[in-house]
Amino acid sequence: ELKRSAGKGRDGAVQRPNDTFVLREISRQEYLKKREQKKLKELGDDVEDEQYLFEGVKLTDAEDQDFRYKNEIYQLVKKRSEVTEITKEYRMPELYDQEGNVNQEKRFAAASKRYRDPNDENKVKPFAEQESWEENQIGKAILKFGSRDRKQKSDEFELVFENQIEFIKAEVMDGRSDKRESVELTEKSIMAKPTFDKLQDERKSLPIYRYKDKLLRAINDHQILVIVGETGSGKTTQIPQYLHEAGFTKFGKIGCTQPRRVAAMSVAARVSQEMGIKMGHEVGYSIRFEDCTCEKTVLKYMTDGILLREFLGEPDLASYSVLMVDEAHERTLSTDVLFVLVKDIARFRPDLKVLISSATLDAEKFSDYFDSAPIFYVPGRRYPVEIHNTKAPEADYLDAAVVTALQIHLTQPPGDGDILIFLTGQEEIENVEDILKYRLRGFGSKIAELIICPIYSNLPTELQAKIFEPIPQGARKVVLATNIAETSLTIDGIKYVIDPGFCKMKSYNPRTGMESLLVTPISKASADQRAGRSGRTSPGKCFRLYTAYTYYNDLEDNTVPEIKRSNLSNVVLTLKSLGIHNVVNFDFMDPPPEESILKALELLYALGALNKHGELTKVGRRMAEFPLDPMLSKMIVASDKYKCSAEIISIAAMLSVGSSIFYSPKNRKVLADNARMNFHVGNVGDHIALLNVYNSWKETDYSTQWYYENFIQVRSMKRARDIRDQLKGLLERVEIGLSSNLKDTEAIKKAIIAGFFPHSAHMQKNGLYRTIKLPQTVYIHPSSGLLHARPSWVVYHELVLTSKEYMRQVTELKPEWLVEIAPHCFKLKD
Ligand code: ADP
Ligand code: MG
Repeated sequence: ELKRSAGKGRDGAVQRPNDTFVLREISRQEYLKKREQKKLKELGDDVEDEQYLFEGVKLTDAEDQDFRYKNEIYQLVKKRSEVTEITKEYRMPELYDQEGNVNQEKRFAAASKRYRDPNDENKVKPFAEQESWEENQIGKAILKFGSRDRKQKSDEFELVFENQIEFIKAEVMDGRSDKRESVELTEKSIMAKPTFDKLQDERKSLPIYRYKDKLLRAINDHQILVIVGETGSGKTTQIPQYLHEAGFTKFGKIGCTQPRRVAAMSVAARVSQEMGIKMGHEVGYSIRFEDCTCEKTVLKYMTDGILLREFLGEPDLASYSVLMVDEAHERTLSTDVLFVLVKDIARFRPDLKVLISSATLDAEKFSDYFDSAPIFYVPGRRYPVEIHNTKAPEADYLDAAVVTALQIHLTQPPGDGDILIFLTGQEEIENVEDILKYRLRGFGSKIAELIICPIYSNLPTELQAKIFEPIPQGARKVVLATNIAETSLTIDGIKYVIDPGFCKMKSYNPRTGMESLLVTPISKASADQRAGRSGRTSPGKCFRLYTAYTYYNDLEDNTVPEIKRSNLSNVVLTLKSLGIHNVVNFDFMDPPPEESILKALELLYALGALNKHGELTKVGRRMAEFPLDPMLSKMIVASDKYKCSAEIISIAAMLSVGSSIFYSPKNRKVLADNARMNFHVGNVGDHIALLNVYNSWKETDYSTQWYYENFIQVRSMKRARDIRDQLKGLLERVEIGLSSNLKDTEAIKKAIIAGFFPHSAHMQKNGLYRTIKLPQTVYIHPSSGLLHARPSWVVYHELVLTSKEYMRQVTELKPEWLVEIAPHCFKLKD
């Protein structure tokens, strides 16, 4: 019995009635009629949208999942064919006549043949379009691998295969080679678990190996050396080992900085493996809130931010004999600050060796900056890389990336090489992983196994190693990575790179003081690095999901250094605590905008970290001890006065974990939302809700049951606990006692405001919020517990820019408190 029909929403998603329903199978006549309508549409006639009919049958969970999966694929396929119509980009030549018009007859003939239900001639399978697409892909794949049975059907498949992306070969990036060596490496990389001996062989096959002696001589002869070498040539993993073998660690540690946490961890893991020792002993790593080193550690990999903080405790870095500022070309904020400090201590520590290593060839700039330091080139090797661009811009690059990856997987033999897709962040990676998994499930066991390996900075450590693990014979790996895989990590065996051309980039507006992470087009330099990743072990192919025109005309040559687009308050506070007063004339390689520095000074003054003369105060000194944003540090330091430091460090820890605490599975969204709102009872505000979450977890003695009931991510909570433990240790260091004042929410809120008063907003008569400092309209983030309560004054943790400028983590405040807490910034109107 037909319950109701639902139309297609504007966004193209099939709207479903309130409960779980299946699609009613429509008759073939009906189906063809609809196709006919669609045909008219293609010819330009205005025909109403198709309707999808639903039958009121409750689905089991498995069926429901299946339905969702198919629906999603269906939408993807549909979207793709819509794009086809607009751009004429994806086409199946057989379906077009010589003028390039769609040959409808052929198309429908093919379609109706495939779409029929095998059990009932008159019935048409729902999602037939998608199924046939998939089957066709399978057919193609099997065909390639020589199955006779499928071969006969190939004509049919060809006719329905229309979702390919067409690429144009743009150019070939030349290889630089010593092929004999590379072949050896390929053979090795498919071998199973590496033994110590094999690892030693692998070390010897790296391009840097034959320059070992020359390099050591150069390091002996010069205090500062710039080292340039193709990514993967062995700079990061080998140079510290060479120095260790040559005895440099007798006089102190070798420190090697990385711009990214994952790189520091993964490289340290590799090196300890190569040396055959336990990680955390002679070789270790240190990243924020996680120190895996001991007194024995002589090779220390760390993030650049960590080394920066080490200057605070040890201004001459006396415990180091060598500092290697690695991945210098990335020009992160911390690396740029390190340049200045390292250059400075090198002057009064002639025994210290400084290595600046970079993957790009514009090393002159580094050399110039370090008083004309010599440059040591490590000739790399790379096979030629064929670059392919799309013919037209991609409407949906995630989808295009998935389609391209499947296209490769289904048409190229799997032993041939792995795939690397560059995405902008965790969310995108998880999305693509889901879509890929769904689609692969549709293929069943008919195709070669495709192993999906995600890698991004928040990925749990135990999963990070997966990208390097050997895979079973006959399978293929697809690595979904952020631009961490651009130069920091080298994954052997990649032959295909898919580059959508985007990355997440920080941008900062010194006028509003607003910092945001935006998905931005990459630079030409990045695009070339990405392409190069495919030619490490054999000739490679790079598929750029943008046009050659875009590459030449729209992409910047180089990425703008982070220092030019960042909030500098943290850096300025660090420099001030190192006794560097004149931050405006600091010897940066690329000076930041003066406005950004002034803005930072202004904020630090408002927070009480600096006095009127710009000198560090006692509060500022304490704040600098915390590896946190100055506003968070101030909140912690202020909690002493309000006798609630125990609560405040829980809140700070929860805020530092970020937005990954709650999860909300699509099929149990209501339950999840209810669970979340339980922590908000009484409109306590988001900060105290986070505290409630933390305390509730602690009360249940960290129970597993609790996670499930409350829809909370285990890992985030454990991480929050680790961070809190460390903050507790730091409290001791700045001589703040642990005081608890759970009942007094006003005291807790006041401590929050002491750090975050620059982030306060007031509701206007028109019902919109405006920030106090620089009037700007902002909105409460939909995830906030105060979304509906809408108090008239609020303080927020951060602004996030999506469709609007949203305040995330919001708490109510009383305007009197602002005057009480920050009288230098707020006055009562009389
Ligand atoms: P570079 O710093 O010059 O880019 P690396 O020293 O990072 O080069 O890499 C050298 C080699 O070591 C590469 O072939 C890379 O695949 C391998 N390698 C690096 N880290 C790991 C790891 N964690 N697991 C397995 N192999 C690794
Ligand atoms: Mg490296």
